[in-house]
Amino acid sequence: MHQIGKKIDSEIFHVVGNVADTLGRECYIVGGYVRDLFLNRHSKDIDFVTVGSGIEVATSVAQQFGRKAYLNVFKNFGTAQVKFRGIELEFVGARRESYRRDSRKPIVEDGTLDDDLSRRDFTINAMALCVNQNRFGELVDKYDGVGDLERGLIRTPLDPDITFSDDPLRMMRAIRFATQLEFTIFDETFDAITRNAQRIEIISKERVMDELMKIMASRRPSIGWELLSKCGLLKLIFPQLAALKGVETVNGRGHKDNFYHTLEVLDNVAAKSDNVWLRWTALLHDIAKPVTKRWDEKIGWTFHNHNFIGAKMIPRIFREMKFPLNEKMKYVQKLVELHMRPIALVEDEVTDSAVRRLLFDAGDDIDDLMLLCNADITSKNPEKVRRVLENFAIVRRKLVEIEEKDRIRNFQPPVSGEEIMEIFGLSPSREVGLIKDSIKDAILEGIIPNERDAALEYMHKTAHSMGLSPIK
Ligand code: ATP
Ligand code: MG
Repeated sequence: MHQIGKKIDSEIFHVVGNVADTLGRECYIVGGYVRDLFLNRHSKDIDFVTVGSGIEVATSVAQQFGRKAYLNVFKNFGTAQVKFRGIELEFVGARRESYRRDSRKPIVEDGTLDDDLSRRDFTINAMALCVNQNRFGELVDKYDGVGDLERGLIRTPLDPDITFSDDPLRMMRAIRFATQLEFTIFDETFDAITRNAQRIEIISKERVMDELMKIMASRRPSIGWELLSKCGLLKLIFPQLAALKGVETVNGRGHKDNFYHTLEVLDNVAAKSDNVWLRWTALLHDIAKPVTKRWDEKIGWTFHNHNFIGAKMIPRIFREMKFPLNEKMKYVQKLVELHMRPIALVEDEVTDSAVRRLLFDAGDDIDDLMLLCNADITSKNPEKVRRVLENFAIVRRKLVEIEEKDRIRNFQPPVSGEEIMEIFGLSPSREVGLIKDSIKDAILEGIIPNERDAALEYMHKTAHSMGLSPIK
């Protein structure tokens, strides 16, 4: 038995092997599960390939497991799934595939184990472990997947031009695995991605997005984005991000390359937070720099209002990317819009009212905003970095202090609109809004504390100055 065979020496695999023996079928664990055994990563989905029908094996396996097992048969696909103790076992007969140029849906025929392994995307995903009792734990590794795992290489089993042209999603998968596993894409494989990039057109946005999400959830998402840019896929799947790349120079003065700056910010955020939407915010925070870029004779390069324009660009990007258009989008929009605020704050004097306004606008997302803003400091000038970080510490201290005192984070007006209407006998009108806003502004400016009595007193003063008096 191969060393790796010991890792599958458990009841489930023996049951499957015995069932396959009884039916006279060869049966193998394949793909991601085998790869992950070598990498000591744990996966709950186990794919089996049988030579001949997989549905029969699955049906028998489900019977063996008894009442606690659930069987799902997908006749059209020739596959079946058994769910047992929170694990999903997927069975399929070995297949051979041939492709037409206009679709990633192949013509499928029954095939041998070799046919089946050779149609798989990468050598590290093309290994099989036999579960039949007389060969239990025997590794079939025709394309040296083990060697590539040791070398840290993503490589196609067959001619990469054919592999990628047949199913262009594999280009995204190559880059996703390179990012997740921190592996290198084999030169010839990468060159083929570059040559076939245009073929990504036939892949649905949703599929592309699934891969991007996995890239974003990785330890260093920048690896994926940089590869996407290098091979030419980025400008096809995400042109607005590709536009960040490059440096323009006027009179010998260039600006920083906003693509690489963005990737640095993204990795900085990823090192501190698993929140994928905060990671997307980092990726998108400067998205409007290309469209707002101007050369000014006096100041040099400017990207005026890129935070506001960027926030405005988000809904369209989300729609194009088939992202959810819900509160996640609002969160990204809000943080993109606010991403300069904490830093702008430290450049002037850090006043209490400015801190209060920041707390009011950011609400519960203040900590995420501060994390983003901190990650955005990528200057190579140590003196500048030191000064900004020092001021940042002051802002953080003030944020805590003021939040304790004034509780602005989840600001609820101490006097409601209904109350104002009742006290002054008003119907819903502009005046009610004006009074309410004046109370809010007075609190944010520190004119009055965030307390009900003070707010009521201030309300009466404001109403009086507007010529209103209470009806009782
Ligand atoms: P993960 O589950 O971590 O995303 P995986 O490698 O298990 O990674 P799956 O999508 O679960 O990916 O696919 C299981 C196996 O099926 C892969 O390991 C690979 O052998 C094969 N496979 C999946 N998608 C493709 C594809 N587009 N082209 C060729 N083979 C594929
Ligand atoms: Mg899988």
